[in-house]
Formats: sequence, C-alpha cells, structure tokens
Amino acid sequence: MKALTYHGPHNVKVENVPDPIIEAQDDVILRVTATAICGSDLHLYRGKIPQVSHGDIFGHEFMGEVVETGRDVKDLRKGDRVVIPFVIACGECFFCKLHQYSACETTNPGRGAILNKKEITSPAALFGFSGLYGGVPGGQAEYVRVPKGNVGPLKVPPVLSDDKVLFLSDILPTAWQAVKNAQVGKGSSVAIFGAGPVGLLCAACARLLGAEQIFSIDHNNYRLAFAKERYGAIPINFDDNDDPAAFIIENTTGNRGVDAVIDAVGFEAKGSLTETVLSNLKIEGSSGKALRQCIAAVRRGGVVSVPGVYAGFIHGFLFGDAFDKGLTFKMGQTHVQAWLPELLPLVEKRLLTPEEIVTHYLPLEDAVHGYKVFEKKEEECRKVILVPGA
Ligand code: NAD
Ligand code: ZN
Ligand code: ZN
Repeated sequence: MKALTYHGPHNVKVENVPDPIIEAQDDVILRVTATAICGSDLHLYRGKIPQVSHGDIFGHEFMGEVVETGRDVKDLRKGDRVVIPFVIACGECFFCKLHQYSACETTNPGRGAILNKKEITSPAALFGFSGLYGGVPGGQAEYVRVPKGNVGPLKVPPVLSDDKVLFLSDILPTAWQAVKNAQVGKGSSVAIFGAGPVGLLCAACARLLGAEQIFSIDHNNYRLAFAKERYGAIPINFDDNDDPAAFIIENTTGNRGVDAVIDAVGFEAKGSLTETVLSNLKIEGSSGKALRQCIAAVRRGGVVSVPGVYAGFIHGFLFGDAFDKGLTFKMGQTHVQAWLPELLPLVEKRLLTPEEIVTHYLPLEDAVHGYKVFEKKEEECRKVILVPGA
C-alpha cells in the first residue's frame, strides 16, 4: 500500500510499504477514506521529536471503512464507516475508568520513566506519533491497523460526508476540551493564541458556548481574517503589535484582562522577545512566548487552557505572575473518546461545522505538497485533507 513516511527533517515521501495485518484479536484494519495533516504532525516533520525514526508512517487524524476485524471485536463489521480517535486507550485501566483516555496506562508500555528508582507508566499510545507515543503506524496511508477496536472507533451516520466528521478524530474534541477547560460560557471573554486549525475551532466552540468577546492572535493575516469573518473574533497580528496582551487588557471591561486564555500554539511559538513584560530579562529562545502572553492577558482568578503541545523546558514562564493572579492551568493531550458522545450530535445538528476550515483537498499522492503548504502557510492554507485513491 501507499503511505506517507518520514526520512529526516522536512523530508517525507509517499512510498510503498507492507499492508498492515491483524496483530491482536481486538484489532481492526481500516481502508482510509480521509486523513488530515495536523499542527502536531509538524513537530515530527520538523524533526523536533527525537524519537521519530526513518520510515515511520505519520497521521493521527483519519477515518475509513472497516475491511477486517479480529475475533474479539464486538460491534464492528466489514463495511462499517468509522472515525478513529488519535488516542489509543484500553477502556479498562484506572485512567480510562476516569474517562482520562489520553492517560491510559496500558497502551504505551515502552516508555516507563524511572522516578526515584520506581518505574512510572507512560501516557497513552497515539497513532503516527513515533516511539515517544508507542510507535504505532499512522493513518496517512491507504490502510491502517487500529488497536483497541472495542474502545476507539466511532460509527458515523451515512448522511454526514467525511469532511464533516473527520475532525472528531482530534482537533474538534481538542478545541472542545480547551474551551471547556477554559470554563468558557455565556458572556465570557476569551483570548485564543494561534489561529491554526485548533485555534479556529476553539473560536467556533467558544461562540457556540456563548462567549461574548473573542480575541484571536496570530501573524498570518489570512487566518486572522477567517477568525474575524466566521467567528467574529477581534484579530491581533503579533508582527504589528508585539504585546498583544497589553492590547487585550486595554480592551476588556475594567482593564482587567480576559476571563480565559487558550494557548493553541505550543512550544514552537514564534515571535521576538521585546514584549514590555520581558524587556529587562535576557531570555534566550522564543519557546513559551505564547504562554507568557497568556499569563499576561488573563484576569486575576482566570484560567489558562493549553491545548498546544509542549515538550521539555520552557524559558521565561512567569510563575510568580501566575501565583499573584491566582490562575488555574489546564492542559494536555485530549481525552478524545470522552467528548465524542456530546460532539457527534452537535455536528449532526450543524451547530458545529468544522469542515469550513478546510482549504485543501489533495490525493494522498500529493501529501508532500500538503505538508509544505501547511507548514509554510502558503496558498492561504488552513487545513489539508488527504484522500487516498483520489
Ligand atoms: P498550526 O501550526 O497550523 O497553527 C499554529 C498557529 O499558531 C499558526 O497559525 C502560527 O502562525 C501561530 N503562532 C505561532 N507563534 C505564535 C505566537 N507566539 N502567538 C500566537 N500565535 C502564534 O497548528 P494547529 O494544527 O492549529 O495546532 C496547534 C497546536 O495544538 C500545536 O502545538 C499542536 O501540536 C497542538 N495540538 C494539540 C492537541 C492535544 O491533544 N492537546 C491536539 C491537536 C493539536
Ligand atoms: Zn492532530
Ligand atoms: Zn486504559
């Protein structure tokens, strides 16, 4: 079969690889009908995750048709159309019972870190996310093996086309969890850093939940324009305004700042370091830039919600300010399975229409081009869907 594979930073290829086979009796083999490129794939693509190996198949946002099931798979049959959560969870462990699926302690056995001479378990395995998260081949391919076939796959109604439901695999529940974590509700004010797919869907979810004032911060004007036109967000380009937090504070009631902030950027945040708050500090590198701005922009007692991915040490994290303001932080990989029962009906009722962010539908064969334009923000790219066999 054909699959998108990694061969070094910025070097991916569509090549022939062996077809996947059933390895455990609760596995499912899927013929992929649609798969998307995510901002999380870009961390791997840029070579930022050391555990990624040559030949790894990427892709954790995908859906398709069941072609084979292991003996122990209960409710799925050949021909069923399903969306697959990017988190692989067992459904039975301590964390799964708490519905904290991305903390599942059984699906990613290889990574037990040693702490005080005791092995601690790793978070859940993820599709297409290198040895760091279980080394499970991803779904930017014609076929994919789906472990835990009794827990993850979600059957979707035939009336909803692939593009309408595909994002239930990751970015829609990610945005939903981010705004829920941020306690966004009727009349809330929220600032969303990053107007990529995750930030845009955060704006969509915040609107649905009744947010009154939404700020959207990025430096790609075409993404900001979409956030403004579609979700009524107040756009701030951080290339023109190096201190978006100062602008946000000036434009909120009582100059207190927003009720909640969402960091939909993560550790690869861009930007210079001349923000007022940092002018006297000499801190190397820009990691943490969005997070610092979040802490500055939120009001006292507010919430900082972080769906953006972080790894390792972050410079210039103003913990003292967070303490003074009495902030709450919520973050982490999304517990996808936990949100699907409430999200599918919202998609069916057209209250959430996440397909509106897609700009590029490409055959899988053109995935290399898809990665290039999504990473470089060329061709006004907001989101790419790859269609195998198109
Ligand atoms: P993306 O790369 O398309 O979008 C990120 C956006 O942030 C870009 O438009 C970029 O211009 C903007 N940006 C860069 N620096 C900024 C700054 N300092 N301030 C404001 N904006 C800035 O990616 P995406 O698909 O939208 O994903 C966003 C983040 O969410 C990534 O870190 C991704 O790994 C993460 N993610 C996390 C989960 C989860 O489970 N928590 C799931 C999906 C994605
Ligand atoms: Zn993703
Ligand atoms: Zn589990």
